[in-house]
Amino acid sequence: MKELEDRILKDGTVKPGDVLKVDAFLNHQCDVTLFNHMGAEWARLFSGKRVDKILTIEASGIGIACIVAQHFGNVPVVFAKKTQSINLDGDQYQAKVYSYTKQKEFPVIVSKRFLEPGEHVLLIDDFLANGKAMHGLIDICNEAGVIVEGIGIAVEKGFQRGGKELREAGYDVRSLAVIKDMDGDKGAIKFA
Ligand code: 5GP
Repeated sequence: MKELEDRILKDGTVKPGDVLKVDAFLNHQCDVTLFNHMGAEWARLFSGKRVDKILTIEASGIGIACIVAQHFGNVPVVFAKKTQSINLDGDQYQAKVYSYTKQKEFPVIVSKRFLEPGEHVLLIDDFLANGKAMHGLIDICNEAGVIVEGIGIAVEKGFQRGGKELREAGYDVRSLAVIKDMDGDKGAIKFA
């Protein structure tokens, strides 16, 4: 998606450890107009698919998913929580995820009330790197008996293995910007 690529070139910065910082528009300050265009693009890419619900992961995925849901008939958005809370009552699905940016393991938790067996779910997230976050959500989907219709990613770091593994496993992964290479020294970002 050219608009997202252009924005990454304009406002993205490359940090040590192959981390792309896009907090000016994607995951700290949020450009809602851009999110809307991303939603329209995913609606085009996933057209014809049944989407009953969008599942994402806190915190960065929430804003994107809520705007995107409006392009899928205002379906509910469920986000996996990363910490236990007294507000999380009843039975829960839980998986473990290793965080690429925080370099530690954390749980992802979804209340069983919000995933009905047989529902068709679209997974959305801001980044795809090694695929750990997506695998955590897929584990929960499998346990819940819901069908993963597709995976919408804003920025895929194509030089890391997550996207390749998920596509090889048969998932319909649609990334709006795929980075082939980022050179930290010169700040050069190349798209696939
Ligand atoms: P994965 O689980 O695929 O290894 O990493 C994806 C998760 O890590 C995303 O939810 C995102 O929050 C975070 N992440 C991975 N790489 C980057 C990056 O380069 N920049 C930012 N801002 N977040 C990243």
